[in-house]
Amino acid sequence: MQLEMSISDSAAPALGKRVSDGGRYAVGSRTGNFIAGVTAELKDCALMPVQNPATGETIREVVVASAADVDTAVTNARLAQAAWGSMTLAARAAVMYDVREAVRSNINLLADVIVEENGKTHADAIGEVKRGLESIEYACALPTNLEGAFSLNVAAGIDVHSTREPLGVAACITPFNFPVMVPLWMIANALSCGNAVVLKPSEKAPSATVLLAQLMTEAGIPAGVLNVINGDASTADALLRHPGVDAVSFVGSTPVAKHVYEVATSTGKRAQALGGAKNHMVVTASADIEAAAAAAVGAAFGAAGERCMAVSVVVAVGNDVADSVIAGIKNRMLELRVGAGTEPEVDFGPLITREHRDRVAGYLKSSEDEGAKILVDGREHASFSQDGYFIGPSLVDNVTASMRVYKDEVFGPVLAVVRVDSLDEALALVKENPFGNGAAIFTAEGAEARRFQTESNIGMIGVNVPIPVPVGWFSFGGWKSSLFGDSHMYGKDGVRFFTRQRVVSTRWA
Ligand code: NAD
Repeated sequence: MQLEMSISDSAAPALGKRVSDGGRYAVGSRTGNFIAGVTAELKDCALMPVQNPATGETIREVVVASAADVDTAVTNARLAQAAWGSMTLAARAAVMYDVREAVRSNINLLADVIVEENGKTHADAIGEVKRGLESIEYACALPTNLEGAFSLNVAAGIDVHSTREPLGVAACITPFNFPVMVPLWMIANALSCGNAVVLKPSEKAPSATVLLAQLMTEAGIPAGVLNVINGDASTADALLRHPGVDAVSFVGSTPVAKHVYEVATSTGKRAQALGGAKNHMVVTASADIEAAAAAAVGAAFGAAGERCMAVSVVVAVGNDVADSVIAGIKNRMLELRVGAGTEPEVDFGPLITREHRDRVAGYLKSSEDEGAKILVDGREHASFSQDGYFIGPSLVDNVTASMRVYKDEVFGPVLAVVRVDSLDEALALVKENPFGNGAAIFTAEGAEARRFQTESNIGMIGVNVPIPVPVGWFSFGGWKSSLFGDSHMYGKDGVRFFTRQRVVSTRWA
């Protein structure tokens, strides 16, 4: 069963060398920083282990960049930005086209590294890179994206025009669950708009991001324009406080997003910080129940639920709907295969760490303690006792809004079912939830869909679409505590975020 994350499918074929081909990009035993176009020396630096979550083994180490390393990266970025930012639009667009080709033709290579460190399946990793390619494809249109406005004769003999210009150096801080796609959400627009970037990927899955930067630099991004520094919260903190950084783009959990937004803005930087989620899928009596059940299984269990747009709550309107959608979901859950992402037949892989796997299992225990009914228990799945950080899919019925499994972002393959009597009740749940990333309604009634779409306070809505991740030329972002700041990621909002506007009023005598 393919647990699709895309609502569209970029046309990129699966090409390129695999890590096992011994290609020149083979990822080694240490992942370093990538500053000024070279992999930085790794002497005397602090290191952290990087694990393969499918085996629990440490597969390599990643450097923890110090404040001095961060300073070197930002200084290099500032130096390199001046020439990059003043290149002609045509020349910069030509580089972005080459970048697109480099990423596209190394899609398998990138996917292999994602699978090894993140644990998702190879098909899912390919899907991730394809969604990232959409951001590059949008950025290739930079001459159009950067167009300004012109008004003739606004007053006697005066014309006014506006331009969009680069900010300078952008800091990008990204989560473990999309080591290629989320960086591309940010850097494709940041770079194409003429900025330099210092990118800090997650310490849990850093290598695909470094590889991405190497590929992009080899394709033509000038040395120093795209830098990667690795490390943990201390590295990220030094970056977001650095006076040479003009803007901070962040994706991660809500508490960190809030903190990053506050620190960045208090130090005078432009900031956008996307956080966590709790995505509801409402199913009404008019819905195609089998289609809804199939969609719920893909959206809840794909990538082991480690997606910010994963559906984690089905809200069934009426007990008959609940019983039939549960039956459809349970049937499909029996077919799900859990295992290492390298295995071709697997539907989803392990969670990222043992600690996170145990935390997810803890939500099943708390559900039981709080009176919910566990219909399928992932702790009883054969994979749970394997060496990697596996847990099977879980389905929990009779969940209420006061339970921990409902209130928290579980970020695992656990689907809660809340039973309500009316669309009013379903809408109230969605509205009262502090997260506002995505929500879906499955219905055959246009009036129900329209009401849901206009009354819910959610940034991305799916109508009979379970994971409504917007295509690359729209923008991605939630509301409420799923986003701090006022601009969404990629597409038009991305261009606005990574540029500043100048307005020129002109009079020639
Ligand atoms: P995380 O918040 O733990 O880490 C994200 C990044 O922040 C990492 O690079 C990490 O090193 C850094 N970081 C951690 N503590 C920091 C601090 N105190 N100051 C500065 N930086 C710090 O998130 P994660 O576990 O890597 O990713 C999963 C989370 O990301 C989930 O909550 C998920 O919903 C969210 N996410 C959101 C979106 C979205 O678009 N809204 C997309 C993907 C993931």
